[in-house]
Amino acid sequence: MSRPEIEVRALHKSFGANEVLRGIDLEIGRGEVVCVIGPSGSGKSTLLRCVNLLEEPTKGQVFVGGAELTDPDVDIDAARRRIGMVFQQFNLFPHLTVTENLTLPQRRVLRRDKAAAAKVAAENLARVGLSEKAAAYPSSLSGGQQQRVAIARALAMGPEVMLFDEPTSALDPELVGDVLAVMRMLADEGMTMMVVTHEMTFAREVADRVVFMDGGAIVEDGTPEQVIGNPRHDRTRHFLSRLL
Ligand code: ADP
Ligand code: MG
Repeated sequence: MSRPEIEVRALHKSFGANEVLRGIDLEIGRGEVVCVIGPSGSGKSTLLRCVNLLEEPTKGQVFVGGAELTDPDVDIDAARRRIGMVFQQFNLFPHLTVTENLTLPQRRVLRRDKAAAAKVAAENLARVGLSEKAAAYPSSLSGGQQQRVAIARALAMGPEVMLFDEPTSALDPELVGDVLAVMRMLADEGMTMMVVTHEMTFAREVADRVVFMDGGAIVEDGTPEQVIGNPRHDRTRHFLSRLL
């Protein structure tokens, strides 16, 4: 088997005396979609943030695309460019148009010229179905549209992997579907994805694997049928029963 696209080895993270991740081992292959589920406070966001080094692990290793992000000599900016991240809050710049939100990071980080950045922005707005909003300001968009812009902004950087942290949790229920549809399209296109979500239908239908975390550890890791359909652990069963 070729090297996994994302590899987490014996990862520990503490905030002061609070040990939030207690030895996480996880491998995600190229093109694989892994949904991470688990109760609030179980360490899901911290794990995702350690994968792109928004948090510095206390111990352990993280590899993305074969490069060790936890190597002190790594070019962290270069390594991070391989990783797109989408948060629960969309974090768009309110004073910039949709297109400008997409071109700014390309120009600053990738040093693309204006025309090249605009072209990539237009391509990615089309991918998320928002070409007609190119000149709009974020405040004029629905939450679902803003989140699709945030996804397009991440895609415009040409990431090899995409991390999603509860991308639909802040949305009104009727807006969730359009965002999940964009994520499903990315999965179908072969994007490597790690998705923290409570959307069990999405996890069942789109994920190759589901990882259940509790108390800073991975309790179960398997296919959706195994983990959601036929959980082996009481803690998983208990968590799932409260969602349904
Ligand atoms: P989840 O995403 O599963 O809800 P988190 O990873 O956000 O869990 O949080 C796990 C634990 O880590 C919580 O107890 C939280 O209070 C703690 N934590 C997360 N981020 C920080 C931080 N920056 N400083 C201190 N504690 C934190
Ligand atoms: Mg979280």
